[in-house]
Amino acid sequence: MDAARIFDTLGMDRAALDGGDWPVSSPIDGAVIARLTLDDAAAVDAKIARSVEAFAQWRRVPAPRRGELVRRFGGLLRRHKATLGALITLEAGKIVAEGEGEVQEMIDICDFAVGLSRQLYGRTIASERPDHALRETWHPLGPVGVISAFNFPMAVWSWNAALAIVCGNSLLWKPSEKTPLCAIACQHLFEQAMADFDEAPEGLSQLLLGGREVGMTLADDVRVPLISATGSCAMGRQVGARVAQRFGKSILELGGNNAIIVAPSANLDLAVRAIVFGAVGTAGQRCTSTRRIFVHQSIYPAVVERLQQAYAALPIGDPREPSTLVGPLIDARALTQMEDALQAAREQGGKVVGGERVLADRWPGAYYVQPALVEGGGAIDNSVEETFAPVLYCFRYDALDEAIARHNAVPQGLSSAIFTTDVREAERFLAATGSDCGIANVNVGTSGAEIGGAFGGEKATGGGRESGSDAWRGYMRRQTATVNYSDELPLAQGVRFG
Ligand code: NAD
Repeated sequence: MDAARIFDTLGMDRAALDGGDWPVSSPIDGAVIARLTLDDAAAVDAKIARSVEAFAQWRRVPAPRRGELVRRFGGLLRRHKATLGALITLEAGKIVAEGEGEVQEMIDICDFAVGLSRQLYGRTIASERPDHALRETWHPLGPVGVISAFNFPMAVWSWNAALAIVCGNSLLWKPSEKTPLCAIACQHLFEQAMADFDEAPEGLSQLLLGGREVGMTLADDVRVPLISATGSCAMGRQVGARVAQRFGKSILELGGNNAIIVAPSANLDLAVRAIVFGAVGTAGQRCTSTRRIFVHQSIYPAVVERLQQAYAALPIGDPREPSTLVGPLIDARALTQMEDALQAAREQGGKVVGGERVLADRWPGAYYVQPALVEGGGAIDNSVEETFAPVLYCFRYDALDEAIARHNAVPQGLSSAIFTTDVREAERFLAATGSDCGIANVNVGTSGAEIGGAFGGEKATGGGRESGSDAWRGYMRRQTATVNYSDELPLAQGVRFG
């Protein structure tokens, strides 16, 4: 399906695809699929002002009613799942199953948020003073700014949006400049959900189209109390500092450098499947992609041989074809970064298998690659960096403590896994002295999280948490209230004054 047909199917105006000077291209073949007009500084300022007004109304709507709006939006996502998936495929290059999987993730978070809208629980706390009540309440926060990356062009916004809306906030979304059509489609469906919902104020959710300058403007604006930013560590370092400078809150979801440890007792069928999916799925362009493996030396040759066989049989090509498992990289820059990483690995003594550009004759303007395996020997310095492409560094280890130490010896701390059938090894990996990541799995790969758990990572991954568990608290302000229902005025800690 091309962009015009997708817009038609979603009931959108296809004229919106043309007329601007910002070209949007498809990574499938490099063709320009839209020319958009971006927001200038005045438009951004006006949208933030409108968001402040929308928030003032929306926070007064009871939370379960706010949940009802999210329920309607989720219904539209269900109805248009295949079309939205096709748009993700067209604009981000994901294979069909992963495009539709991303939409399913949006549906799941909407369901979660609807339930949550009746469970924004505070606490009552025992007061130390007689005839006093002490309690904690969660209130709406204000306009929430969402800055998102290209590789989850819809789901990342929805993780934030579904929670932020039931929490009583308005939304300002600055999507990746590489995937604005996905954002325009989501915004359209959200407005449809709002259409006959009287309590929803105009401007409850708005898009800010533009590059990093627009993201920086949002990050600097004191009217936006929370910025949830997903992208590279370099972006988060800048956005986090800018938001902190004005005492705003931020949720940072940044790069990962995720690893799997394969222990001697591992079920190798499971381990190899999980490694291949984690390393080459979405062409290695997931924050949770598997980038390093540490395999016990007793099984290392067998594991690497099986990986090489699996890699040699990977169907690489047009992501719209049902048989394809590896689609394109997002752009030429991603290819250059992959080539540079492999060159550096070779110079550091790594043995590289794969990594070549393929299908260049058919699509000179698109960037498909044979995923690469790099056998590390001892260590490869640049394996500590996240290269956003299918590059998998393979290392061998002798002792589990050594494997865990090397696993943790990178700046990022997002997702991690161990494959073992030895309960002691599994528990050591999950213990305080084990994996230092926000996500730690046993016999489950690093990539592909469920929405029910809190999602995010430590260290240079930014420390933010989104999605399930109690991540909703990040979108609200906590108020501690003490109520005195006596005729005395006892002070806390027994202090006497006068
Ligand atoms: P990116 O950092 O280039 O861009 C992400 C977003 O930030 C874009 O909207 C961009 O316009 C904006 N941006 C960039 N610099 C900015 C600045 N200085 N100020 C304000 N906004 C700025 O990332 P990308 O290439 O789109 O995405 C890939 C990266 O995102 C990878 O590092 C990946 O690991 C990470 N990611 C992390 C998660 C997570 O949940 N931890 C999820 C998806 C992607």
